[in-house]
Amino acid sequence: MTTPEIDPTVPPSGTGCLDCEGTGGWWFHLRRCTSCGHIGCCDDSLSRHASKHATESGHPIIRSFEPGED
Ligand SMILES: [Zn+2]
Ligand SMILES: [Zn+2]
Repeated sequence: MTTPEIDPTVPPSGTGCLDCEGTGGWWFHLRRCTSCGHIGCCDDSLSRHASKHATESGHPIIRSFEPGED
């Protein structure tokens, strides 16, 4: 089992959920993957792309991308 790399300086993939933008969907809040910078929508959003990304990529550490939120 390997420890996922955490790079706080990794640039975010964008200012919104890429997957939602691609499908014309919407999101409630955003989450940022600390391993690769992937931005996905949170579990309160319609498609839950952040959780989906974590499952599919094996990147388990997702931080909030919202100001003032952990
Ligand atoms: Zn999304
Ligand atoms: Zn990732």
